[in-house]
Amino acid sequence: MTTAAEAMASAAARLRAAGVPDPARDARLLLAHAASVDAARVTLIAPEEIAPEIAERFDHLVSLRAVRVPVSQLVGRRAFYGRDFRITREVLDPRPETETLIDLALSAPFERVLDLGTGSGCILVTLLAERTDASGVGVDLSETACLQASANAVLHGVAGRAEILQSDWFDKVEGRFDLIVSNPPYLAAPEMQEVAPELRDHEPEMALTDGLDGLSAYRTIAAEAQGFLTAEGRVLVEIGWTQGDAVCAIFRDAGWGSVTLAHDLDGRPRVVCAQKPA
Ligand code: GLN
Repeated sequence: MTTAAEAMASAAARLRAAGVPDPARDARLLLAHAASVDAARVTLIAPEEIAPEIAERFDHLVSLRAVRVPVSQLVGRRAFYGRDFRITREVLDPRPETETLIDLALSAPFERVLDLGTGSGCILVTLLAERTDASGVGVDLSETACLQASANAVLHGVAGRAEILQSDWFDKVEGRFDLIVSNPPYLAAPEMQEVAPELRDHEPEMALTDGLDGLSAYRTIAAEAQGFLTAEGRVLVEIGWTQGDAVCAIFRDAGWGSVTLAHDLDGRPRVVCAQKPA
């Protein structure tokens, strides 16, 4: 028989050999999931023997992690801005950098928000959960992403204020918004060769790259968003940390008013904010 501690140690060794960046942490999270206990309680069960069905489930999860399936996909959820979101391989895994966009969005009042390329819905759902008098629309080209965003809207009690639409950017969008947000695909095609296997092999390509220079979504948004904004409306887009100058230039060239750059917690350029011109 094997104790939980022994199972985690051999799993961590296996994950380390597979090049997984944080093998001990992942072994602990996956054992917690296999045993249906809270991750914080794993230490308590560590000396105990694990039941064969849990050992089998754990082994299966570790095998998948060893081929670099992200932990969030294996456990089916990821924490974002203090809430758990349902995640599958059909949507981008919410990332901590995107919380910078949330903070900026919440720094000014808004009543109607549009989220372009909503994916898991983490941006739209978080904003509606934080601003209980607001309503909004989330669009995504992917039908499975739309289903996932809808499920997350229900999970966090904002479904009555969130409309999820399958749409190619603005195509099916109607009306005006005082806030438009997006975390679009922004990796350039050559960058896709260099990203971690977790992204390259297991996250949806259409959420990561336009297959070109990584800037197409910003050109579309800069060209069309003014027609969907109220007079005082603003746009917030997440960017790759090297894209600050390029994305600011795209918005300025498209005739936007104030265009500013905000940094993430690592001090890197991460969000471009564009104001509708007066
Ligand atoms: N932030 C992601 C990454 O580089 C890219 C996501 C995106 O293109 N929006 O890990």
